[in-house]
Amino acid sequence: MAGAALLGRLTWLAAEVADAVQETPRVRTLVLETDGWTGHRAGQHVDVRLTAEDGYQAERSYSIASAPDEPLALTIELLEDGEVSPYLVDEVRAGDRFELRGPIGGYFVWDGSGDAPVLLIAGGSGVVPLMSMIRQRAAIGSVTPTRLLYSSRTYEDVIYRAELEQPAEGLEVFHTLTRSQPPGWTGYSRRIDAELLGEVAWPASEEPRVFVCGSTRFVDTAADGLVAMGYPPGSIRTERFGATG
Ligand SMILES: Cc1cc2nc3c(=O)[nH]c(=O)nc-3n(C[C@H](O)[C@H](O)[C@H](O)COP(=O)(O)OP(=O)(O)OC[C@H]3O[C@@H](n4cnc5c(N)ncnc54)[C@H](O)[C@@H]3O)c2cc1C
Repeated sequence: MAGAALLGRLTWLAAEVADAVQETPRVRTLVLETDGWTGHRAGQHVDVRLTAEDGYQAERSYSIASAPDEPLALTIELLEDGEVSPYLVDEVRAGDRFELRGPIGGYFVWDGSGDAPVLLIAGGSGVVPLMSMIRQRAAIGSVTPTRLLYSSRTYEDVIYRAELEQPAEGLEVFHTLTRSQPPGWTGYSRRIDAELLGEVAWPASEEPRVFVCGSTRFVDTAADGLVAMGYPPGSIRTERFGATG
């Protein structure tokens, strides 16, 4: 009820697409200009509302990819049989408009600062809110020890690949490719499991803060693995994109 009341106070705003950047064959970033946007915290999301000519409306949630001081950007992965994502990835053009409301969420946020290590775990497009955190961490010059464990299907599916190849000081990036790997691949080559988590994650005794984002199954697997390593459940913040995210 409290969440619904909070959303009720958020106004739908007109957003215009200023730029569209192809990140991977199936993923695009939309940079938006939104009158009345009041800013966000790294990790938050927005609701997007599309309205068809006949008045039919569809709403979906999308995490914010940009750091708080950057232009508002969303990164959307195409689901071929989906209703909304094919429009946002394949059809929308610079100058097109749709509605959004937000920012939403106050739990899955990190402002990039602090001394305790931070572990970020992403499956597919689940990297989007974590990238906002990574960008914010860089923007403020933070050297908080940070590790990103990022699971993608193939090398071509790695979102923000070039940016992640140039990590800021104190950020370590670990990739795993679950379906295929290019010749000479030196990263991991399997789904996240207990052994892989044991190699990448700090011991629980270091009291890391954790943010996990991806499909429901991915998030549950990663969080269960960390709890089995002794991480207190309360130290693990999760964002689930749904069955397909
Ligand atoms: C907080 C939050 C943040 C998110 N952030 C992002 C983000 O940053 N980037 C991103 O790409 N996505 C994100 N998502 C996911 C996003 O909201 C959408 O779910 C996603 O884009 C798919 O929407 P769609 O309309 O294309 O697909 P939908 O039409 O919703 O369909 C999704 C899938 O479900 C299947 N399906 C649909 N209806 C049914 C049905 N009745 N029965 C069985 N199967 C069905 C479809 O076949 C399809 O495979 C986020 C979700 C949440 C909750």
